Amino acid sequence: MATILAVHAHPDDIEHLAAGTLAILAGQGHTVRLATLTAGECGSASTDLAETARIRKAEAAAAAALIGAEYRCADLPDLGVFNDDPSRRAATELIRWARADVVLAASPADYHPDHEAASELVRDACFASSVPNYRTGASEPLASIPHLYFMDPIGGRDREGRRIVADFGCDIAQGFEAKRRMLSAHVSQAEWVARQHGIDDHLGSMEAWSRRRGRDFGCETAEGFRQYRHEPYPRTPRLQDLLGAALATAAS
Ligand SMILES: [Zn+2]
Repeated sequence: MATILAVHAHPDDIEHLAAGTLAILAGQGHTVRLATLTAGECGSASTDLAETARIRKAEAAAAAALIGAEYRCADLPDLGVFNDDPSRRAATELIRWARADVVLAASPADYHPDHEAASELVRDACFASSVPNYRTGASEPLASIPHLYFMDPIGGRDREGRRIVADFGCDIAQGFEAKRRMLSAHVSQAEWVARQHGIDDHLGSMEAWSRRRGRDFGCETAEGFRQYRHEPYPRTPRLQDLLGAALATAAS
């Protein structure tokens, strides 16, 4: 059995991009943990920062609990995630807290500055997680660097509109209902996404993207992933092996 940690910038990012995969892994008996670097406390026009943070962390915890997963937030500032020393230590502490064998991180290229900074932080935190003299807080260093994968960017494109190609997908047919329920737990975001992004149908947007990714892999709905393979990170196909029958490779 493995321990999988998904880390992204804000509550509800993981639900858009990887919750179907996480639901399948949890259903197989693996330990799944979710974390965000921020509470997404700027994501409201009707409640103040502290109240929005409280609401959104509660929503993220409720979403994670639907698949039996724990949730933790590093409490970095929303729209204030930068690749600096304290933030790298905070990201490393999340990985150590989770005791992660496999880490799913934000895409290096994405639409939001926090997403891109989160990707760098978590990439480098994986390296730091097994460095004994790198101090981060309560959790002990890991024995080795976890396997690192990047999720898709929101909408599957970088800032110039170029499509990001996934190495492989997870066919989320068995996890889609859980994904829908997990995103639905982010009640406060339906109103905010309509206001800020002009998207009236938060769930419909997620479903459309899942179907779009599914077409890349010849299945109904999918989530895409890329493996980070630079030394000294592990390069064996750990997540691909864990997915088993749900592993989807590009239709030729
Ligand atoms: Zn986000």
